[in-house]
Order: sequence, then structure tokens, then C-alpha cells
Amino acid sequence: MKFIKTLNESVFLDPQQNFAPKTVVSEIRRDPLTGQVSRVFPFRQLTLHRHDWTPFVEESKQKFCPFCPDVMEKVTPKFPPEISAEGRIKVGEAVAIPNLNPYEKHAAVVIMSVNHYIPMEEIDVGMMTDSFRAGLTYLQKTAAADPEGARYGSINWNYMPYAGGSLIHPHLQVLAGAEPCTYDKKLINASTAYYQTHNRSYWMDLIEAEKNIGERYIGQTGRAYWLSSFAPRHVGDVIGIIPGKQTIDDFTDEDLSDLAAGLKRVIDYYNRSNIVSFNAALYLADRKDTGFTAHVRIVGRFTIFPLVGSDITHMQIMHDDPWTVILPETVAAELKEHF
Ligand SMILES: [Zn+2]
Repeated sequence: MKFIKTLNESVFLDPQQNFAPKTVVSEIRRDPLTGQVSRVFPFRQLTLHRHDWTPFVEESKQKFCPFCPDVMEKVTPKFPPEISAEGRIKVGEAVAIPNLNPYEKHAAVVIMSVNHYIPMEEIDVGMMTDSFRAGLTYLQKTAAADPEGARYGSINWNYMPYAGGSLIHPHLQVLAGAEPCTYDKKLINASTAYYQTHNRSYWMDLIEAEKNIGERYIGQTGRAYWLSSFAPRHVGDVIGIIPGKQTIDDFTDEDLSDLAAGLKRVIDYYNRSNIVSFNAALYLADRKDTGFTAHVRIVGRFTIFPLVGSDITHMQIMHDDPWTVILPETVAAELKEHF
């Protein structure tokens, strides 16, 4: 397993030092599995400003919310009987319903709570566990009804508007289609190729390698191992892996709760660091995709300067190069003590 990084030294004449030459170091890293390039910007001491969601939350409460419990049963769609005889899939407070705006053959939303707004510090393990279970149950029912058309699924979370969440009310996005998403396909194909070459699981080797190196290994919650990603997809990129899991059928409630327990610690870290939004995904594969291990991944979302600014730039949109402003090793160091 190779952790390849290139340090680039850029020189300019610094106006703050009377135009004396100054050298600044940035990093280009390659993901050990996919080879995907990721850039680490040289903002070593970047402090993010606290962003208060209160005005947005208050405004959203004045508007109509289809996920609030007083209207949800009336205004949200129901699944056809082959997916759910009751029309909706309920686990605790979590409710899976069809997505009114599908962007994959099978698309659902999981309303995670009866509460319209859940501040970061109130996101809890039970709510996440029930919501993941509702999402997985939907994927299982869909796969049973349409085995070919729902071969590849994922469960996704956009928390708050910076992350693309269009409604404040907490919800997951659950997808299943005949083919995996582009990045999922890369992960699956590279995992299979690694297995065929080495007769070992990349994901088990990754845990072992990161444990030995120690710089990015964070710790364990039950059966789940947590790592700060060497080549981050965005700021605060953390991966949670439970060995031996591959498909929608492999997770027990204890597994989901172990994953939720780790996510909770990462979300608390984001909250402390003023990273007020995040994206997360549970990546899954088909039974035939030997070598792949299902895992969760979470990245922080933020704005650097103006409130309306975006953390997605030309680098991601036009060049497919993700970047981060916090070193993965710093993320691991700050998270380790909370695991
Ligand atoms: Zn609501």
C-alpha cells in the first residue's frame, strides 16, 4: 500500500516582508486505492468563523415543511405495495418515503426525526441508527422487487444548506440503480482489482497500514474502525469501516449503532471546529464484488469568507481535484482523544 504525496514549494516576493522571497508548501496526494489526486492547501492555521443557522431555521419554520409530523402523512408520497404494504417504512421516528424528485431509478428520502431542526450537538446515535435501518430496509425491499434495476444502492446525508440540503428538516437520500455511481464504481473496481492481485482485502490492509503508521488512525467504536482519509475528498474526511460488510443485507442493528457512534464523534468535532455542515455516505456493493468493504464516509462543508460563499470551486467542478484546508493528520490528532 502506497501513500504517495508530492510537496510543492512555491516562491513569491512577500509584500508583508518587504518583498523578500517567501516559500510556501502545498501538497498533492494520491488515494492509495483509486489514485485520485487530492490537494492540501497551505492554510495551516485557518480558523473558521462560527455560523449561526438560527435565521435560516426561523425562516424555514414560517414556510411549509412536508416532513413535519402534522402534514407528513397527508402530503408525502407512498411506495407501491411491492415496496411497502403500508406505503411508508417506519423505524422508530425515522420514516422512508419516495423521493418526489428522483434522480435514480429508485430514490427515497428518510425523514430522520419528528423535529424540524436538529442542531449538530443534538444529532444522536439512536436517530442515526433508526434512519440507516429505514434506508437499508428500503434498499432491501427495492432489491427484492427489482433485482437488476436496484443492484447498487447508497445512503446519503446532506446536513444543512452548505452541504446541499434543500430542507432544514433532517433527512437522508437513499438511491438504488442498475449501476453504481461514478465514484462508487471506481471504489468497487479498484477494490476487486486489489483483491485479485494480492488475494487480500484493500480495506483490511488499509486499517492495518494506518494502525501501523499511526498518523491517521483514529480509533474504534465497537466493531467499526475509523481513519482520517490520506487523500481527502473534502475537509475533515473520515472513513468508518466494519470488516466483512459488503451489501445491504450485511448490517446488524449493532453494526449501524457502532457506525452512528463514530459519526457522532466526528460531527461533534466538526461542531467544535465551526464546520457547520456535512455530507456523508454509506457506500455499498453487490455480493459479487469481492474485495469491497461497505463503509461510511463523512466530510465537512463550510464557507471560508462571505456567508454566501461556497467551498466548491473550479478545482472540484472543472478539474475533478478535491482539496482540503486541514491536514488529515491534524484531523486524526484532534479526533483521537474523543474515541
Ligand atoms: Zn419540518
